[in-house]
Amino acid sequence: MTIDDAPRDVLRGGPRELLRWVATGAAVSRADLSRLSGLSPSTVSQRVEALISQGLLEETGAGRSRGGRRPRQLAVPTGGAVVGAIDLGAHHARVGTLDLSGRVVQARTLPVRIEDGPEAVLGALLAEVTTLVGSDPVATAGGSAADALRGVGIGIPGPVQHATGRIVSPSRMPGWNGFDVAAFCTGQVDVPVIVDNDANLMALGAHRTAHSELDHAVYIKAGTGIGSGVISSGRLHRGAQGSAGDISHCRVVADPAPPCTCGNAGCLEAVASGAALVTALRGQGVAVSDLTGVIRLIDDGDRQATALARQAGRAVGEILAVVVNFFNPQVVAIGGRLADCEPLLASMRATLYERCLPLATQTLLIERVTAGQDVGITGAAHLVIDHVVAAA
Ligand SMILES: [Zn+2]
Repeated sequence: MTIDDAPRDVLRGGPRELLRWVATGAAVSRADLSRLSGLSPSTVSQRVEALISQGLLEETGAGRSRGGRRPRQLAVPTGGAVVGAIDLGAHHARVGTLDLSGRVVQARTLPVRIEDGPEAVLGALLAEVTTLVGSDPVATAGGSAADALRGVGIGIPGPVQHATGRIVSPSRMPGWNGFDVAAFCTGQVDVPVIVDNDANLMALGAHRTAHSELDHAVYIKAGTGIGSGVISSGRLHRGAQGSAGDISHCRVVADPAPPCTCGNAGCLEAVASGAALVTALRGQGVAVSDLTGVIRLIDDGDRQATALARQAGRAVGEILAVVVNFFNPQVVAIGGRLADCEPLLASMRATLYERCLPLATQTLLIERVTAGQDVGITGAAHLVIDHVVAAA
């Protein structure tokens, strides 16, 4: 059993959890960690020393004494180490550096032309990560940018085979099928590179920044495409190959059933994604070029756009109702650019309540992802931090 496969109770007091308690301020000393984990002071000390020797924790002088010697305080270092993160979207990418507690240090949004292919797109985004690290005197702390960068996490808007980091049959990503993102990127930056799909990164980022106390959660990412990420027993659930949570090609009731990029018809993605709304509106003779235009029409109360958004919300709700009945999460949260679309959200909620078992919805929280535009890079950074800590 690897640390990634371990159920949450086995990880209680594990190095990742100790680091997280310090990063979130829940613990500032070895004594705090011992109390929170229930582990003996000597075991805690051993783990803390290992984290310090890896540069993942540091001691910052003396805390307040409760009689006797003043305890040394623990902190996550803010200098000398950062992780890079890339959240790739259909037209834009969010690129950032984050410290080892998962806080954003620097971030910027860059335009992207997916059709330029993986080498050109990923090469430019990795160069941006390197530039961000090099321009940050705190991160480099007098050393080189190459030493400061501890790893890079990358989110891809398509299916990623988890074990290999390869993209498998993505929609709207010509030239990317089968591309080994992890191998290419490791060759460029020479640090560990972790690749996952964008919905999983959103799920992890949102879960770590809000509701990390809840063990079972489903996060829907509704933007140009549509997908979901699942947190089960406190961990990201990927399934056997990494496709868990991919609801994009689940069939929904739609008449007529629009054709999907996968070759089937009536898939959720062909009915309820941002790309589907653009196509449907154009089919009705509305001059709209992208999702931004669709959202503007909905905000302006346009009749056709609002009707389509309601239909999309019902479709998402239908699929989500199956997921909720089957999985019984504590929270369902929707993020992505369509999450602010009120008519879609209202129909999704209504359908969910109508179609779910009362026991499944009795205490279910249905909300928006509140973590903002950095939620994806936050998730990407946490993947890398977890990997670095596990390796240490
Ligand atoms: Zn499909």
